Amino acid sequence: MGIEQKKKRIAILGSTGSIGMQTLAVARHLGLDVTVLTTYHRTDLLLEQIREFHPRVVAVGDKDKAFLLQKEMPGIRILAGPEGIEEAASFSEVDFVVSAITGFAGIAPTLAAIRAGKRIGLANKEVLVAAGELVMSLAREYGVTVLPIDSEHSALFQCLEGKETSDVHKLILTASGGAFFRYRPEELAAVTKEQALTHPNWKMGPKVTVDSSTLMNKGLEVIEAHHLFHMPVESIDVVIHPQSLVHSMIEMKDGTLFAQISEPSMLSPIQYAITWPSREKGLLAPFSFAKYGKWEFFPWERGKFLCLDLAYAALEEGGSFPCALNAANEVLVSRFLQGEIRWIDIGSKLERLLARHMKENVDNMDTICAVDARARQEALIV
Ligand code: MG
Repeated sequence: MGIEQKKKRIAILGSTGSIGMQTLAVARHLGLDVTVLTTYHRTDLLLEQIREFHPRVVAVGDKDKAFLLQKEMPGIRILAGPEGIEEAASFSEVDFVVSAITGFAGIAPTLAAIRAGKRIGLANKEVLVAAGELVMSLAREYGVTVLPIDSEHSALFQCLEGKETSDVHKLILTASGGAFFRYRPEELAAVTKEQALTHPNWKMGPKVTVDSSTLMNKGLEVIEAHHLFHMPVESIDVVIHPQSLVHSMIEMKDGTLFAQISEPSMLSPIQYAITWPSREKGLLAPFSFAKYGKWEFFPWERGKFLCLDLAYAALEEGGSFPCALNAANEVLVSRFLQGEIRWIDIGSKLERLLARHMKENVDNMDTICAVDARARQEALIV
């Protein structure tokens, strides 16, 4: 195969976020050439990263911050604004692009990188949830491989390697169950923001942690899995596994299950996306059965976590439904975090919004942006 790991040149879109910083840890460990870094506005942190990794190009989404940084660092090329980030994403001297800008803002740069023929490591869920058909068809057109960085999808990807698609009966995504999996339905009505922000296994940002407590995170991942692996919705299942050691499984048509197991750390899926199809020594200590002796699995009950049911329904409906679901959910979660609505309102308000959503075809960026903007507006006042 082509590129030696040492010399692989990578771009990290969203280098100051949690995935971005863990990607830099992997880059440091593998001795990669970090060629491009981008941030939206965290230029203080970006400055430290520039000093350590000496990228060729950096981009800052916030134009004022880009200007200030350029004054401080006259010797480096700093691109500004959303156009600047897209330009950085398609920079010619890059072999691999890690798409780790959170939210809707990650879509356009990912499309730019695909059009430039870059291999993509995808950590941003919205890219596939809101624009899955467009992204995957463009990737096919440009002959680009999209490697998942989300831990569940990396697990599925690794389980599927070397298997015939026609032999695979089901994809089974594991879910930690979030903060409330052991709560009774009547207890869910009164849960607080502090409770929702406590995740048993993963330390993540507030949006993902709340999504994990409503199981919307798993719902978005079901949609993501559908696009990445071309599996129909009825062949994608969820199982609750509170310890987050089995990152996902596939079930073959003869009943055999394959699972991918590792310590809950994003360092493994990030590294595998970068080194694929080879493997390199990782950053984690050998797996300890003394430390991780307890493994539990519980079937997921339909009806208990409305958000997961709604994500399945949106995927079944198809078209613009997943895009609208994602946008409305983001606004409702932020309203919940601001103390404006209750935790259970996230699901019930989302249900009301989707009930009146009119399906559109989402095969171009203009429609996707329009659907996204409308859904956000409606979610503000529902
Ligand atoms: Mg995940």
